[in-house]
Amino acid sequence: MADERLQFHEMGIDDRLLKAVADLGWSQPTLIQEKAIPLALEGKDLLARARTGSGKTAAYAVPVAQRILTSKQSVREQDVRALILVPTKELGRQVQAMMKQLTAYCSRDVRVADISGKADLSAQKPILMEKPDVVVGTPSRVLAHLNAQNLVLHSSLEMLVVDEADLLFSFGFEADLKNLLCHLPKIYQSFLMSATLSEDVQALKELLLHNPVILKLQGSQLPDSSQLQQYSINCEEEDKFLLIYTLLKLRLVQGKTLVFVGAVERCYRLKLFLEQFGIPACVLNSELPVQSRCHIITQFNQGFYDYIIAADEQSLADPSAAPQMSAVKGKKKKTTEGGGKAKDKEYGVSRGVDFQNVANVINFDFPTTVESYIHRVGRTARADNPGTALSFISHTELGLLSEVEEALIGDKADSVLKPYKFKMEEIEGFRYRCRDAMRSVTKQAVKEARLKEIKQELLNSEKLKTYFEDNPRDLQLLRHDKDLHPAVVKPHLKNIPEYLVPETLRDVVNPLVSRKRRRMKKEKSKPEGVVKTSFKRNMKGTNPLKSFKYSGGRGKKGKTVQS
Ligand code: AMP
Repeated sequence: MADERLQFHEMGIDDRLLKAVADLGWSQPTLIQEKAIPLALEGKDLLARARTGSGKTAAYAVPVAQRILTSKQSVREQDVRALILVPTKELGRQVQAMMKQLTAYCSRDVRVADISGKADLSAQKPILMEKPDVVVGTPSRVLAHLNAQNLVLHSSLEMLVVDEADLLFSFGFEADLKNLLCHLPKIYQSFLMSATLSEDVQALKELLLHNPVILKLQGSQLPDSSQLQQYSINCEEEDKFLLIYTLLKLRLVQGKTLVFVGAVERCYRLKLFLEQFGIPACVLNSELPVQSRCHIITQFNQGFYDYIIAADEQSLADPSAAPQMSAVKGKKKKTTEGGGKAKDKEYGVSRGVDFQNVANVINFDFPTTVESYIHRVGRTARADNPGTALSFISHTELGLLSEVEEALIGDKADSVLKPYKFKMEEIEGFRYRCRDAMRSVTKQAVKEARLKEIKQELLNSEKLKTYFEDNPRDLQLLRHDKDLHPAVVKPHLKNIPEYLVPETLRDVVNPLVSRKRRRMKKEKSKPEGVVKTSFKRNMKGTNPLKSFKYSGGRGKKGKTVQS
């Protein structure tokens, strides 16, 4: 119960941190924060299994900041006191942002530097020379700086955090991590945060932690059905496009939505397809420069975009599928794919990254592992917010669905993924325009779009790096969801003739149509002679979907409606 939970102000935390927590609007700690913060403040090493979105960042960030503030009361010398290791650049940025928010009222005493993102070691050297109190970075980047002696930790380090430890392994950082430990002092306090307690994580625990307290807070890795609703629907390739078009165009899916696809090429195919219907979406994948990726996520979190189409590239997370996972010191960790484009192994969209207020996750392509399903779906229903996950399943993906269902069911009697009861036959009327749009999205168009976007984003990235540092307001003007246009756009596809919209959904889900209908009703109530005969009203009589039966609830913000 809320009032039984230990509150932030009862934990012995510095007032400046408490003030920042209040500014963040956090009325009480999450479960992991309630348990971890007091133990960490006692000086204990911690191993925490925390599901994504549980508030785990602050669970270690608050004690890290508190310990630095306490240390500084006796020792004034500036030194790096805490090191936070993360698996991806995106997560690095986020951790830094969270630390900065939490230390907003003591930013002079707790200085934080994120070195995960920038490409150039030499560009980061001056930052490290200033000895920030907290350094955030990926193991390979931190190790490179240690080897170059830009960073020296063996006498000053007081705290080490390994965040998303299981991902560090799956991203192939194991050797870097072990090498890095040789540069640390003998005694320091360690926190190991991980979504799963894999064998690798257990091994790391032996290496890093001394008499740790182990917190296994959640039995399940995803919130239960009162917070997160999970659905699946069987549909083959063409139907996937038909369904996503219908869901987005008719606004059956409302609120911010992440659409996951299985490959970079699919990102652009889907973006171009939606572009045909005037539905803007951002694309996110490992080929885009890191500045652009982070900017897209920031703007998405600020509410600039409704839809992100993200490629969740398994090969990047699976060392066996990606020979680029070199742990050789200082070696550049880039690989090349079919088109010769560089991919970034420190990219992780479904993992660790805090997309805020995501109402829906759509698996347009089903993930290839249970772990990936959990990470993707964990982007919604974060903190105490509700969320919906909907997976499109083709016959080739049925096996993967069973694996996920088996893993999630645990001791529950019912299947966790409920069937999404959408009657595909009732949107048959849209199939013709879908095919029309799909025909325009040729292989060549996709290839061109991919090249165009990367070129554009490289330009954007340069702007983000330099100009926008001095003009942060202008940052808002740079959008990432513009049309790419390599496919022929047929203007008539942007609008839906009313007769095509299933009758029973018209008022419920399509604000455009509803507006027109309301206007028509208004006109109808006007004195005779003012009302013009509406062509659309005449069309009603020939509506081929008149028999549509709607059995779902009314469309609500942030909800997925079923028919
Ligand atoms: P994390 O698991 O650290 O990625 O956090 C997930 C989300 O929960 C972030 O957007 C945090 O800002 C938010 N959050 C963290 N702690 C709290 C809290 N005590 N109350 C409300 N939201 C929180």
